Amino acid sequence: MFELKVTTDFAAAHQLDLTGRKCENLHGHNWKIEVFATGKKLDKSGVLVDFGIIKKRLKQVMNTLDHKFLNELDLFPKNLPPSSENIARYIGLEMEKLLNKDKIEATISKITAWESDNAAASWINSDA
Ligand SMILES: [Zn+2]
Repeated sequence: MFELKVTTDFAAAHQLDLTGRKCENLHGHNWKIEVFATGKKLDKSGVLVDFGIIKKRLKQVMNTLDHKFLNELDLFPKNLPPSSENIARYIGLEMEKLLNKDKIEATISKITAWESDNAAASWINSDA
């Protein structure tokens, strides 16, 4: 089994409904995102997936989030508020869709969304 990791970041604002906590107020983060792809087979160049393809698709997904007020996006309906957990899930599912279209065999196994240097949430693909 092989695993690749690509990182990126984006800046955005959100507001969460956590009673009495400071996250209730509108605020922003510079999220750092880690994308993990796993797979068993390497191609004839000896790589799992070309990093360039993952980076290109990740940029497309980041463009939907960067410098946005996340609560206003259709990507995060009321039942899926833009917490770091749901942001990680959204990025994971979008990346899976895009890489499937590219006929990439590797699976997006995990997305970690760091909202500060010492707090992160991950979405883990249970099918990986
Ligand atoms: Zn926050």
